[in-house]
Amino acid sequence: MKTPLERFLKYVEFETTSNEDATTTPSAETQFNLARFLVEELKELGLTDAKVDEHCYVTATLPTNVADRKVPTIGLIAHLDTSSAASGANVKPKIIEYAGGEIALENGLVIPETEEMKALVGKRFVVTDGTTLLGADDKAGIAAIATALERLIASEKPRANVRVCFTPDEEIGNGTAFFDIEGFGADAAYTVDGGPGGEINGETFTADKATLEVKGFDTHPGEAKGVMVNASRALSSIIAELPMERTPERTEGREPFVHLYKLEGGVSSAKAVFLLRAFDEEEREKNKTALREAIEKGTASLPNKPVCELTFEQQYLNMGYFLKDSPEVLNKLERATRNVGVEPEWIPIRGGTDGSRLTEMGLPTPNMFTGGRNFHSPIEFLVVEENELATRALVELIQLWAE
Ligand SMILES: [Zn+2]
Repeated sequence: MKTPLERFLKYVEFETTSNEDATTTPSAETQFNLARFLVEELKELGLTDAKVDEHCYVTATLPTNVADRKVPTIGLIAHLDTSSAASGANVKPKIIEYAGGEIALENGLVIPETEEMKALVGKRFVVTDGTTLLGADDKAGIAAIATALERLIASEKPRANVRVCFTPDEEIGNGTAFFDIEGFGADAAYTVDGGPGGEINGETFTADKATLEVKGFDTHPGEAKGVMVNASRALSSIIAELPMERTPERTEGREPFVHLYKLEGGVSSAKAVFLLRAFDEEEREKNKTALREAIEKGTASLPNKPVCELTFEQQYLNMGYFLKDSPEVLNKLERATRNVGVEPEWIPIRGGTDGSRLTEMGLPTPNMFTGGRNFHSPIEFLVVEENELATRALVELIQLWAE
């Protein structure tokens, strides 16, 4: 039997960085290398139907060992790509025993000490050499799932049917683009793509994208009086009217924000793109109102009024809207976590997961921890003991579903 750590160290050898500019799925062919490796590994474990499809989705089944009654089918999901925020090539993982304080990486980069790290002294961390990300997001999730499968097979305890899916391109928002929910055939699923041990997630942001287009009128600046309508100047005034306290850099926890994401323009036209994030419909509406009011206030004192066009596009919905109808899916995750000796903590995710879309499409899919920290960065690290806890919690979870 392999430990999740042994598996993890193997997986990070594969470069699987997704590419935001690509128009294909997978966005980078390299993701197939890990996908094919995983298919072989799952087959060796005894999951005979393991396969990878043309879009790089790895799927496999571990049938139940319960013969005398029907048990549910539970999906376990993790993504095999890594973020392009930092290089994912030639990752050189290093295992250290955490002695407290900040951690100096080989190339001089420093992992700053956070409050929660104080409780982790004596634990083992996998860190990078400072030149790449680690890839715990989400290869630590894959390691936990694969190891849990091996342990479930070795155990005689009753277990539910398990469907496994390792997805490509989660980091560029395409993890569910070709996800065949019907073919997957699960009654509920769990993504293993979270952070600190014990943290479980049944809520994500509700996300909208807002595009504000401002149309002006260009003339020779020497003869512009009363004629020119400067779109960029108008857009600047509008942005200045947006509430500063409602920005990503000033919010946390359950607080909503309006994030100015892109800005471009000249005199005749200008455009801003905003990401609107909130956990409930009331705050979601307030985000939209903030934009409408800023347009009104920002253009009130202009001599010549520009034409402003504001459009909203829904990106994904808070999975909590739907998961409240599936309390059992959440309760079992909470119990599984508690059964391995960690106090579960429900943390709302200030972002989306593959589970946000799957849940919306009808497959309830909360998220659980991997033990990773500082994702999308060269200071990413994995707490080995917490990844082991994730593995044990997954075993518990699948067994709880066969009760
Ligand atoms: Zn992830």
